[in-house]
Amino acid sequence: MDLDWIINHHGEERQRYFGAVAPPVLQSSIFTFPDVAAMRAAATREFDAPFYTRGSNPTVHMLRQKLAALEGAEECLVFASGAAAIAAAVIACVAAGDHVVCVQKPYSWTRALLADLLARFGVAHRFVDASDIAEVAAALTPQTRLIVLESPNSLTFEVQDLAAIAALARPRGILTLCDNSHASPLNQSPLALGIDLVAHSATKYLNGHSDVVAGALCGSRALLERVFHGPFMTLGAIPGPHDAALILRGLRTLKLRMQRVAETTPRIAAFLAAHPRVARVWYPHAPENPQRALIARQMRASSGLVSFALKDADAAAIARFCDALQRFLLAVSWGGYESLVCPLVAFLPAGAPLIQQPGRAPPELIRLSIGLEDSDVLIADLQQALAQVGAAP
Ligand SMILES: *Cc1c(COP(=O)(O)O)cnc(C)c1O
Repeated sequence: MDLDWIINHHGEERQRYFGAVAPPVLQSSIFTFPDVAAMRAAATREFDAPFYTRGSNPTVHMLRQKLAALEGAEECLVFASGAAAIAAAVIACVAAGDHVVCVQKPYSWTRALLADLLARFGVAHRFVDASDIAEVAAALTPQTRLIVLESPNSLTFEVQDLAAIAALARPRGILTLCDNSHASPLNQSPLALGIDLVAHSATKYLNGHSDVVAGALCGSRALLERVFHGPFMTLGAIPGPHDAALILRGLRTLKLRMQRVAETTPRIAAFLAAHPRVARVWYPHAPENPQRALIARQMRASSGLVSFALKDADAAAIARFCDALQRFLLAVSWGGYESLVCPLVAFLPAGAPLIQQPGRAPPELIRLSIGLEDSDVLIADLQQALAQVGAAP
């Protein structure tokens, strides 16, 4: 199935709803049946068929089919958030006494899931520098059931060799989960590399318009049925049909949006790398990135994230820079049509010293999410804001 078919037609059954081109929002919690036999049959097929919207809803089902096709997966489940998708995946794979190996510096709530929530229920974990396959191998124990990856990972964008880690895990009966939000299904296909489960924050590129929080999980039918009959149905973190319809609309331009940021983001990364006030740039596709060969092997193109640190900048100078930007909105998250700036100092108390914590991103890091604007406009804005870093407040 080609990408244009998936985006424009796959999963849509227009003849069933008056030929409407846009998908209907089936705002119904329940579905009725002509007789008891039909009701009984539907009750056993909740994974696929409309019965009760916590299990399946036709608008959400269209989205599930498109996302599964985009990831080359048998099945997909959609959740109320990316965090819910990741939590459901992990919970479905572990029990008390089990052990999880997780990439160092994962998304903050993935860290909290393992370090705080599941630790209370007897699930042990270890965070490792998973860019080094030997560290992953050394962290495995007889109790390890799952390896949680995020490639590229949040904020500093280290990548993991997905095929090598899958090859390490599979013969030992260990499952692998990869958060693919950064690359999007267009730029990386973890399942094709042997990974078992792929999670997305659909809040980011899949929806792409900063108006929905949602998540997705893709994988084999067998694994997703395990997730469905376990945490999916019991925790019930489902998206509403309106949210699903908004994401279906966002997906119409996914290819165009990813093509756009793949063109503009390298220009912005190169501008920052060459600027005398910039100390360091984190960008997966930078020519000097030591992981470049691996990235070329397992990723197709650049997404729109780039992080950097200013030279000799304290928290006040970082704030001056961010406050001076006119074209980047100050906000968390990423992956929308609009460019964003997110300085990590915003998460520290005012006046706190910038101290590097082990296994965390540097506190002076500033992340940009590049939107759909002209790169010239964004570079001019960065230029004028960088000129103000040294100025008196
Ligand atoms: C945002 C994000 C999540 C969480 O997704 P939500 O939709 O905010 O719950 C998970 N992983 C990564 C890499 C993210 O950036």
